[in-house]
Amino acid sequence: MDIVKVPLNQARSGINHFFSGKEPWQIVTVTTSSVLFLSWFYSFVFHDDESLLDRGKRTFFALMKHIPSIRKELESTKKEVLEAFENEQWERTKSLSYLRVLPKQGLKNEQIIRLVEENLNLGHYNWKEGHVSGVVYYCSTEWQQLITKVYEKTFLTNPLHSDIFPGVCKIETEIIQIVANLFHGTEDACGSVTSGGTESILMAIKTWRDYMRKTRGIKKPEMVLPRTIHSAFDKAAQYFCIKVKYIPVDPNTFKVDLKAMERAISKNTIMLGGSVPNFPYGTMDDIKAISELGLKYDIPVHVDSCLGGFLTVFMDQAGYDLPVSDFRLPGVCSISADTHKYGFTPKGSSVVLYKDKKYRHYQYTVTTDWPGGVYGSPTVSGSRSGANIATCWAALLHFGSEGYIQATKDIIQTARYIESELRKIDGLYIFGEPVTSVIAFGSKVFEIYRLATDLGKRGWNLNALQFPSGVHFAITHVHTQPGVADRFLKDVKAITAKLMEKPEKPTEGVLAYYGAAQTIPDRSIVGEFINYYIDAMYYIPDEKKQKTFLDSNGINSELN
Ligand SMILES: *Cc1c(COP(=O)(O)O)cnc(C)c1O
Repeated sequence: MDIVKVPLNQARSGINHFFSGKEPWQIVTVTTSSVLFLSWFYSFVFHDDESLLDRGKRTFFALMKHIPSIRKELESTKKEVLEAFENEQWERTKSLSYLRVLPKQGLKNEQIIRLVEENLNLGHYNWKEGHVSGVVYYCSTEWQQLITKVYEKTFLTNPLHSDIFPGVCKIETEIIQIVANLFHGTEDACGSVTSGGTESILMAIKTWRDYMRKTRGIKKPEMVLPRTIHSAFDKAAQYFCIKVKYIPVDPNTFKVDLKAMERAISKNTIMLGGSVPNFPYGTMDDIKAISELGLKYDIPVHVDSCLGGFLTVFMDQAGYDLPVSDFRLPGVCSISADTHKYGFTPKGSSVVLYKDKKYRHYQYTVTTDWPGGVYGSPTVSGSRSGANIATCWAALLHFGSEGYIQATKDIIQTARYIESELRKIDGLYIFGEPVTSVIAFGSKVFEIYRLATDLGKRGWNLNALQFPSGVHFAITHVHTQPGVADRFLKDVKAITAKLMEKPEKPTEGVLAYYGAAQTIPDRSIVGEFINYYIDAMYYIPDEKKQKTFLDSNGINSELN
């Protein structure tokens, strides 16, 4: 008793002494601010979204930015970065005028078509000849004629109105059935056609968030995901207020660390994820093991096959081994697969699949009390063009399984050839074991961005990777044309040999910034730079800078 009393008495007299002679408003102010500070300090230390070190760093940098000299420096750097991005866009587009207002008189069809062509001719990368990684997955005249014909017949339709366009809904159902069948779904499988991989992923995550809230009462949802999973998962986390626990990948295999994944599972986990394959390295996670974790802890597993799905499902028949990663694994509950990548359909279509129909209501949104009527829709979009669905369906029917098996053979053969030749080049190494079409490589001898920069000068456009620095080449059907692979390898060999002569030289040009950005500990600055990059997509030049104008005949004429 006394042991407690003594310090309590001491504390009381100390506090009384501190406040003696103070006016009531002072006592109130000091007390309130102390409580506010303590409560901030408590949440700073015990809030578990980020490690204490990370939060310490972030707070430190946030405070640093208030120092006038640093703030000034930062502002001028930001201005330079924005101007550099805008200048690039200006240089690429300056031969044409920018329209700011509606033309007074409508232009004639042939004038508009000519303008479309002029705008399409901006940009200097020769993607048709296979100089660009990924992006364009297929190109052929017969296919293009089919797609445009189907587009012409269907672009006015809207599957939101199933009573008016029942045939478009039937076509969508057929796509889902066909794709579910490829991924070994049973007759219980279901899904939706979406506008792209990102939307498929958003839909699956919304489904699992709402399903786990309803059935498990999870109110602070978390996802446990490999660090290499596509950034669309981060977008979903931002949109839907879900926390992500990122799990590192093994530095040699570039597959997710399963032990760390298991440790990260908590009572708030709504979903586990894995990629087949992932975007950065083209390696695949051990989906069988993730499926088993999902079963052990009763958590849905999502497999992201957006990139490679339309290759992986045909690999076996094309003569290549690949571990099973679809609904045959009992823990796999949803899959995203992009038709608009290796399904060779026009951009704007993807499929999200669920193992069982009992999950799909969690994907839908329904509004019952709107004066405009009771409203329900399955995906993010309200109205959609039936043309995206019909052209997707047309492409699936055009290729058939034999067409896709042949395409898979051609693509994997090309990718394996490029991989094995790259492995022979002194100074380069491959990240892990690429399973399908993406080959990522780096160097322990020279800065790999120098190779990317020099390849750029020869017309090649690859993807830059970070942590660690690397580049990747996503092989599409366009790259299976004769000569493309050898042309690429010849250029890589020549440039690498040259770089090996002076391996210590630093990167120059735009990629030098990319390399430097990895070393900026304050990631919010990098984020702001990327906002400027996006701003530059919407760049509109100063009217005084513009050198041409569109005359009333729709001709870009020189301003004098
Ligand atoms: C492309 C891709 C996606 C989805 O991207 P979209 O551009 O929205 O189609 C998702 N995951 C992986 C691995 C991808 O490569």
